[in-house]
Amino acid sequence: MSIKKKISLTFTLLVMVILILNNYLQYMHSKDQLLDSIEREINLVTEEVTFQIENAQKGALYVENMIGRELRTASIAALNSLPPRHEDITNEQLVQIAKELNVSHITLFAKAEDDIVGVKSTDSHEIGIGTKEWGYWYTAFEQLFALEPVTVEEGLTLPNYWSGPIEIASSNPDHTDKWGYYYDGTTNYIINPYMRDKEVLEYEEKFGPVKVMNRFTSKLDGILEITVFNPETFGKADATVTINGNKFIKISDEPIWYGSYEYENTATDRDYIQKTLKTGKSEQYTEPLQGKDVQKTFIPVKDNEQSYVIGIAYDYGLVQQQLTHDLMDHIGLLLLSMVIVFIASSIYSRTITKPISYVVAQVNEIAKGNFGKRLKMQRTDEFGVLAENVNALSESLKIYTDDLVKSKKIIEFQAYHDPLTSLPNRRFIKEKVMVLEQTAKELNQPISIIFLDVDRFKHVNDTLGHNIGDELIVEISKRVLACVQTEKSIVARQGGDEFIILLENHNERDTMKIAEAIVETVKQPYKMGDHELYVSASCGISMYPEHSQDVETLIMYADMAMYEAKNLGGNKAVRYNEKMNDQNKERAQIESKLRKAIEDNMLEVYYQPKINAKTNELKGVEALVRWKDAELGFVSPALFIPIAEDTGLIQPLWEQIMEKSCKQVATWNKNREAKLALSVNFSARQFQDTPNIVEKVTSILHNCGLSPKLFEIEITESVLMYNTNETIQALISLQSAGMKIAIDDFGTGYSSMSYLTSLPINTLKIDQSFIQDITEEYQNSEIASAIINLVKSLQLEVIAEGVEKEHQKQYLLDHNCENMQGFYFSKPIPANLFEKQYINRIE
Ligand code: C2E
Ligand code: MG
Ligand code: MG
Repeated sequence: MSIKKKISLTFTLLVMVILILNNYLQYMHSKDQLLDSIEREINLVTEEVTFQIENAQKGALYVENMIGRELRTASIAALNSLPPRHEDITNEQLVQIAKELNVSHITLFAKAEDDIVGVKSTDSHEIGIGTKEWGYWYTAFEQLFALEPVTVEEGLTLPNYWSGPIEIASSNPDHTDKWGYYYDGTTNYIINPYMRDKEVLEYEEKFGPVKVMNRFTSKLDGILEITVFNPETFGKADATVTINGNKFIKISDEPIWYGSYEYENTATDRDYIQKTLKTGKSEQYTEPLQGKDVQKTFIPVKDNEQSYVIGIAYDYGLVQQQLTHDLMDHIGLLLLSMVIVFIASSIYSRTITKPISYVVAQVNEIAKGNFGKRLKMQRTDEFGVLAENVNALSESLKIYTDDLVKSKKIIEFQAYHDPLTSLPNRRFIKEKVMVLEQTAKELNQPISIIFLDVDRFKHVNDTLGHNIGDELIVEISKRVLACVQTEKSIVARQGGDEFIILLENHNERDTMKIAEAIVETVKQPYKMGDHELYVSASCGISMYPEHSQDVETLIMYADMAMYEAKNLGGNKAVRYNEKMNDQNKERAQIESKLRKAIEDNMLEVYYQPKINAKTNELKGVEALVRWKDAELGFVSPALFIPIAEDTGLIQPLWEQIMEKSCKQVATWNKNREAKLALSVNFSARQFQDTPNIVEKVTSILHNCGLSPKLFEIEITESVLMYNTNETIQALISLQSAGMKIAIDDFGTGYSSMSYLTSLPINTLKIDQSFIQDITEEYQNSEIASAIINLVKSLQLEVIAEGVEKEHQKQYLLDHNCENMQGFYFSKPIPANLFEKQYINRIE
């Protein structure tokens, strides 16, 4: 629901709730007021009625007494005009006197046997009527006859006279009479004149409470009727009395004294009348009577002489009617108010929501990515501030997203590129190859992978520092890039000094050409500040789909081929073949078996003599490791030494050879005058990975009792290539401990003159390839003689290895190289055989 609708609805509902609440309160208030006013009205009416009743009663008594006195006057007048004996009087005579005296009737009562009886009368009903059963009336008659003052409580008593209260005539219950009785002893009868009906009731009609009550019921809306109940008889069986054979109810026993009783509910009313008398408070109930909702209120009145209850029946429907009328008025007003509020709040909410809608629409636009969009609002209120803030936010979002796009590009680039060379990285290649694989499959085209590793790059890093190393990598990357066609190839840096070159749709021949071109270009000298650097590269090639259809495997195969190139001396490109995979497996097998052999101390040492060919003297021995596996037979050191180097087994292997050979030579030397020197081969790795090589060597020599002076370390030129400070320091320490350092296989590496002069070297061992090149005609002997000359000029010792032939020995002797080693003298042989052939023989 929109805010606009919400505001107007909320306001309307709020106003509605307030108005309903107000109406409810108003309704309750009105009801209370109405009930209050009814109560007040009832109280007033009650007071008035009570007053009127009292008045009427007093007035009635007064009038009654007046009539009583009048009747006495009439009695005395009758006495004067009548004879003293009733026997002498006629009824007609009485009629005449009654007319004259203006009374309704005259009756004469005389004593009978035990009664007082009406003897003469203008009213035929009275004649012969007995009074014995009349109660206090009879008492009064007797007292009159006895000339005593009448003592009964009711009526008016005067000398010789008593007039009873107005009562229903027991001679004829259809009439209400006021009687007077006179007897002064001069007659044999009581004179009884009386007024009947009209005269008696006239007063009551004129001045009695009924008139007032009628006025209330007719004038006051809602008052249905007023009833004055006689609590003694109301609701009970009629209190009829029978006198002289006539049945009637005494006036004082009438259940209702005044007013009407049309809304009859006798049983309930009787209960309420009794209750109200008991509590002394007014009681009330409401019930439907005669088709109306009647509220009846009963008020007890306690007079000195008598108690009565005033009942007021009120038309309660009028209250409801009034309340409903008020309620309808209020509801009408409420509806009108709500319509006004709804219209007003709708107009008001529109003024609020219009700018909100605008802001929302604009913000939605911004949220859709329309950053930088501005809200146009010329306002100084909260909306103005909001618009400014949204504009600022939109601006910052724009700047932020622009930055984000840039950063994303950079991150994407970084994720797929090498930061140093900016070439794609391994991840890029992997993803790219997957795509290429698909197209290659569809188009049936080959993909080639060239895996390149810079030979001896670590040496550059170690000697010239990482900055030069990095520069070199960048330079190499440029040269490699220059060798390939950019559209159909990707040059990526795999990490360190490794590159992967991916070629699309190149056959094997073209791939090989490119690989060779790369090898060639990498080989060219580099100018790095003051340095002139020479490095080479080994490349391995694998082809899709020929070698594998899986990218990872393909890269792994190219890597394997690269290792093969390295094994072949580096500076080469080698294509992958299945054998390499086999070799790989073979390497794993050799590694595990070698590890076991070392653990089981199964390595043997063979000794090859070093001879001074000029004197034929045995100068020393070279210790060469031999391993005979139960399954593989003799395994060549040329095969397992590189594996031992790669796997870290070289150190325990070396320790075993060291200990065995040192012990052996020390034993041999014990009884020899011309002590034998021992040469042990050290791997370049040992100088890099073994922190305490010097202590190790010294302690083994010491333990075996072999003098350091008789100990020679054979290292290949590669050790010198990685001549980190630590390596040089180690060599210097070993040399200063008396040991000799010999460069093995000299001439195959890249040692420059500067190395040779600056490093701690004692001997150069000419590589056997140069010796074996020497023909019987002494052809191809230039290198050997050049090395000999070089060694001499450097004032180092020289030894030639691999001497197999007589002419080779001769040539070397001719060129002043006396120390020799080779099959010509002896193959490497086990200790026992050596002992037999050399030690014991010499002895
Ligand atoms: P190296 O140190 O240059 O050892 C000389 C190699 O040439 C030995 O091969 C030896 O048997 C062979 N040899 C000696 N005279 C002749 C000859 O007249 N003609 C021919 N064709 N060969 C000759 P081996 O024992 O197979 O060792 C190969 C290489 O393995 C060694 O070359 C050395 O670099 C390494 N090696 C051998 N034993 C050890 C060792 O205990 N530790 C280390 N680190 N390397 C060792
Ligand atoms: Mg050697
Ligand atoms: Mg050698």
